[in-house]
Amino acid sequence: MSRPQRVTVLGATGSIGLSTLDVIGRHPDRYEVFALTGFSRVAELLELCQVHRPQVAVVPDEPAAVTLRQGLAAAGLATEVLLGEAGLCAVAAAPEVDAVMAAIVGAAGLAPTLAAVHAGKKVLLANKEALVMSGALFMAAVRASGAVLLPIDSEHNAIFQCLPADYARGLAPIGVRRILLTASGGPFREWPAERLADVTPEQACAHPNWSMGRKISVDSASMMNKGLELIEACWLFDARPDQVEVVVHPQSVIHSLVDYIDGSVLAQLGNPDMRTPIANALAWPQRIDSGVAPLDLFALARLDFQAPAPERFPCLRLAVEAARVGGSAPAVLNAANEVAVAAFLERRIRFTEIPSIIEQVLAQQPATALDSLEAVMAADARAREGANQWLTHQGR
Ligand code: NAD
Ligand code: MG
Repeated sequence: MSRPQRVTVLGATGSIGLSTLDVIGRHPDRYEVFALTGFSRVAELLELCQVHRPQVAVVPDEPAAVTLRQGLAAAGLATEVLLGEAGLCAVAAAPEVDAVMAAIVGAAGLAPTLAAVHAGKKVLLANKEALVMSGALFMAAVRASGAVLLPIDSEHNAIFQCLPADYARGLAPIGVRRILLTASGGPFREWPAERLADVTPEQACAHPNWSMGRKISVDSASMMNKGLELIEACWLFDARPDQVEVVVHPQSVIHSLVDYIDGSVLAQLGNPDMRTPIANALAWPQRIDSGVAPLDLFALARLDFQAPAPERFPCLRLAVEAARVGGSAPAVLNAANEVAVAAFLERRIRFTEIPSIIEQVLAQQPATALDSLEAVMAADARAREGANQWLTHQGR
């Protein structure tokens, strides 16, 4: 067998990062860790370095680097420590690296993910915000460099598995009528609309089926996550927004479906555990054990489906509108959402104010074309400023 693949895990201390390292740890003959990155959890990053012995670790700043270097020295490890965005981009593009898990949350992941794309790596994309912000540029960079882009989001990984290998030709030539994007509906699926104003961060982060980071948990509760995923699906699979239909499926067992013109509907099923899409992408086009328990259909007994309720989840409607408008609208939506979710987690705004902020910022900032990374970052910065002005204006 050939040498193990060398993997950089961006966002190693997060939920997706830890699941990735769990799968990698099951296959020492196939994978070795080249680099691990963390942000606020330096002690956890040190523990991961002790287990996975990466050549490089990346932290945000010098104080974190001092702490990590001390811990590494005490553990007798020679791991090199790099800093900040430059360090993230370096480990994403390093010549030694075969595959990069892009699992930083939010816009902070854009530059390193794009660095991996430009370097032509196998890019395992969990950081959906990066693609939502910069879709056209991102996909052009994938085509130009020959990077292999593999979706980690469970829905997109499911769609990827249900499509033929030549899906990049576009949906019509391969006979796809539409993509059916499943959504759990989050913890508030059955809550009356009037109770949503009093939702707490703890309630929003208690997802019924998935254990995830706090930002994506709030996005799931507001259904913004499904909106971001609809935009993500349009870029990954060259679909128009009207070719992607959201289907609420509370059990999260069908991870998404593809509806073909001959009436065939292909679905991918499995227990809700991110190690399945991670193992699928890591080993693609082969299959490896992920540690996920086999699906017990008899225990499950039934699968339910519902239409989404856009009046209760305005974030989904706002995302679909941004997808239709295109240009800078998805980047503005994403940035305003990141500011609003952070403010909600800090208890500065109500859950129901998240869409109010996004709607206002989108209305104030007409969409422009995004033809460079600078233009993407400028749209992102303007939207953050707009959202922060809203917060200041409201005295939050
Ligand atoms: P998380 O909050 O658990 O982890 C985020 C990681 O990003 C951590 O390692 C953190 O250190 C790092 N990070 C945070 N801010 C950073 C910054 N400014 N600079 C550098 N690093 C930073 O989040 P998660 O749930 O693992 O999600 C990661 C990404 O994967 C998100 O884009 C999310 O939408 C996507 N995703 C997650 C899941 C899931 O099940 N958790 C499923 C699908 C997609
Ligand atoms: Mg998902």
